[in-house]
Amino acid sequence: MTNTAVVVVGAGPVGLMAAHVLGHKGVEAIVLERRESRTGRLECARATEEIDLRSRAIGVMPPSLDLLDGVGLADEFLCAGVRAATGVVHDERSELGRIDFQGVHPRFPFVLAIPQWGTESILASAITGRPTVEVRYGVPVEKVMQEADGITLCCRDGSCCRARYAIVCDGAHGSLAQAAGISRREKTYRARFFMADHHDLTNLGDEAHLWFTPGGAVESFPLPASLRRWIVQLPSGSPLPGPEDHVDLERMVNTRTGYTLDPGGRTWQSSFAPQRSELSRFHRGRLLFAGDAAHTMSPIGGQGMNTGFADAELAATLVAGRLDGRLNGGDAWAYYERARKRAVHAAARRAWAGMRVGTITGRPGSWVRSRVVFVALRTAAPLVARHFAMMSIPMRQASARLPRRLTHHGDPHKAAE
Ligand SMILES: Cc1cc2nc3c(=O)[nH]c(=O)nc-3n(C[C@H](O)[C@H](O)[C@H](O)COP(=O)(O)OP(=O)(O)OC[C@H]3O[C@@H](n4cnc5c(N)ncnc54)[C@H](O)[C@@H]3O)c2cc1C
Repeated sequence: MTNTAVVVVGAGPVGLMAAHVLGHKGVEAIVLERRESRTGRLECARATEEIDLRSRAIGVMPPSLDLLDGVGLADEFLCAGVRAATGVVHDERSELGRIDFQGVHPRFPFVLAIPQWGTESILASAITGRPTVEVRYGVPVEKVMQEADGITLCCRDGSCCRARYAIVCDGAHGSLAQAAGISRREKTYRARFFMADHHDLTNLGDEAHLWFTPGGAVESFPLPASLRRWIVQLPSGSPLPGPEDHVDLERMVNTRTGYTLDPGGRTWQSSFAPQRSELSRFHRGRLLFAGDAAHTMSPIGGQGMNTGFADAELAATLVAGRLDGRLNGGDAWAYYERARKRAVHAAARRAWAGMRVGTITGRPGSWVRSRVVFVALRTAAPLVARHFAMMSIPMRQASARLPRRLTHHGDPHKAAE
């Protein structure tokens, strides 16, 4: 049995972020990850898992760059990513307007484009520089036992860790919430999308582009290494393509945007059906749930991982405060749940609304949408930019101003969890 202060379950981006915040504060932590190793997952994973690994978040928003800056990692991210400072919105005929991120943040006036595997790679490499943090791969957590003064987590290989608290970041398909008796509400939306990364031969540079057309939406984002991500809305009623199915993304891009892509220039492809899910509660006893383990939202708008980063930072800050006796457990956990649910609901509503507006098809609906978007971008462009950059999500950095009532004035070990 290993003893530590905190166990983090899952070494995805959110678990690694939690580990960095703990490590930065000098808190002892062990991260338990079920994958054999980072590269092992790439080399050994089945096709679907590999797709999962490579297909997801590509936008790191300014509030997340603030959080990364807080743990000394912003520069590494800035060096690896592409700074998308402008988004351009079109309908099928013309440009409707521009979203300029220049004014949204004093240091990070852009959305940083970097594929999720790149984000995970930076976070995982940098964790080796945290002397109080250890990451163990190939150890799926199977059993959790809560006790009065701690928590024991046991893995498939029979090894167990005892800790004061655990931050669970085991993703959308993790099993620990259910094992803790917490229910999850889930909903799958009707829209279907297909995406691919292409060698970028366009003149779009570092700009993000969105096309809202009667035939469906197209999104296009810059990526490092002269690549560009193209995402197309599939015609309504289309089944979700499997890994081996052929989807003529290049034809859809050409019909809807006029850009010609070389089908041979694809470096990777995947499809997705947006979902929304949320745990009924984000904590139980000494367990705090963060990231996709606690909630998922439509990827349109690129907020899921960013919301998870903010969960991780607050969870780790509260746990650290609890460990050094500054915070009252019961109040701190209730605050975590309230603050994060507020932020999650705001982000998920926006993701849904953005997807809803973007996926309207047919001429009459598209005509109305074009007028509304045109007027919004002419009259409220700075607000739209703040909205897309997640600068107006409530409680986006709740740990920066913890309420005074969370401070514990008595014996920290007697306070309720
Ligand atoms: C198509 C798509 C596009 C997206 N685009 C964006 C975007 O542009 N921007 C954005 O912000 N978000 C985006 N997202 C969402 C983003 O990918 C997720 O929010 C993010 O991966 C969540 O990270 P996580 O660490 O919470 O979970 P995960 O990345 O799922 O990591 C969970 C980890 O826990 C491990 N694990 C699971 N069970 C156990 C166990 N029992 N014991 C030990 N380890 C365990 C897993 O192996 C995994 O490594 C997108 C998602 C999808 C599907």
